[in-house]
Amino acid sequence: DPTTSRPARTTTRSADLFARASAVTPGGVNSPVRAFGAVGGTPRFITRGAGARITDVDGNEYVDLVGSWGPMLLGHAHPQVQEAVLAAVSRGTSYGTPTEPEVLLAEEIVSRTPVERVRFTSSGTEATMSAIRLARGFTGRDVVVKFAGCYHGHVDALLASAGSGLATFAIPGTPGVPESATDLTLVLPYNDRAAVEKVFAEHGDRIACLITEATPGNMGIVPPEPGFNAFLAETCRAHGALFVSDEVMTGFRATRLGGWGLDGAHEGWVPDLMTFGKVMGGGLPAAAFGGRADVMEHLAPSGPVYQAGTLAGNPVATTAGLTTLQLATDEVYAHVDRVATVIREGASAALTQAGVPHVAQSAGTMFSVFLLAGDAPVAPVRDFDGASRQHLPAYAAFFHAMLEAGVHLPPSAYEVWFCSAAHDDRAVQQVLDALPAAARAAAA
Ligand code: PLP
Repeated sequence: DPTTSRPARTTTRSADLFARASAVTPGGVNSPVRAFGAVGGTPRFITRGAGARITDVDGNEYVDLVGSWGPMLLGHAHPQVQEAVLAAVSRGTSYGTPTEPEVLLAEEIVSRTPVERVRFTSSGTEATMSAIRLARGFTGRDVVVKFAGCYHGHVDALLASAGSGLATFAIPGTPGVPESATDLTLVLPYNDRAAVEKVFAEHGDRIACLITEATPGNMGIVPPEPGFNAFLAETCRAHGALFVSDEVMTGFRATRLGGWGLDGAHEGWVPDLMTFGKVMGGGLPAAAFGGRADVMEHLAPSGPVYQAGTLAGNPVATTAGLTTLQLATDEVYAHVDRVATVIREGASAALTQAGVPHVAQSAGTMFSVFLLAGDAPVAPVRDFDGASRQHLPAYAAFFHAMLEAGVHLPPSAYEVWFCSAAHDDRAVQQVLDALPAAARAAAA
């Protein structure tokens, strides 16, 4: 039993760095989920990664199922990505002029997705923020529709919670966002066609766009019901609104064609705008939005909608992204898919064995596991209300048992477990070996 056969891991150096970080950085971290607030304990400060594994400052090694929250499709420190990045760095890091890698990465994205034009940003947040500005500028309308449980970055207008009742305008999801930033946002329950029909019937001529994750991954994986994205695309079209598919997480990750590869590619609809990030930056800050040529040409300098970025299309970041996408072959996706299936099924079997009710859901190579309370009914999770029925203490116990056994899961129950091309048999076996004790911890 991996949790009892080995002395507890030392975390002195991580704890020391966390204390120092907390004195100079709010909560000690630069993105809230990293602080382990949802699971308790000391976040591990990582010094290096290689393939499927990461090592912390105390020398503990972990099989990594966080993958930098999605980007590391090829695993850490992939030799060819590293070589390309080092070569790019050796030539200079940023000029504020156009460069060739931007063109190559844009061509790659245009060739692999339905977008006709693409514009780079440095983060997914900027990509969705810019897509919404463009949708508003293009349509001359102001209202944005989103779904509860979908995360599109920390854009003011999208950090919104559902107000009371359906089809009412949203309220700010955090202090610091003024009501004026969210009172043009409508928040609907996911997978709810009737709610979509109702807001379009009431406000259709004011709606600039509907934005959705291609397959939601930020409330755990909650797949669209069959035909739901097609219905959204058609509803938008019928009302002159733009359909914005946020593929920051799913793009080049869920399948070779991203989340769109799961439904759109064969159902025959195309989003008006898409957003990308994570994998397309290869672990460096790069993201993008793109879409229909006539819409995208509304951006400055071709058109009137302003959007810009000092480091947008940065040659080092675009080189990392381009090299990653070039290496992300069908074989890579097939491997990640297999690994994800084995781990998902292993987790499910261990939880069943330990008597922990749970739901495992997947979208291509992405999956997540919802741990429920002892008496909870086990049914597919189809929206944020369903995802919120998770038993968070069970996940915290499960997470820490896995961590102690050398497997770093995401420190939150609402996240995808990300596998990579570098997760080999040994790494997968280590995860499988750790699961039974973690499941028993979750049951306790
Ligand atoms: N959109 C989606 C679907 C995401 O998952 C994320 C980040 O997790 C974002 C947007 C924001 O991206 P970033 O964190 O790069 O700003």
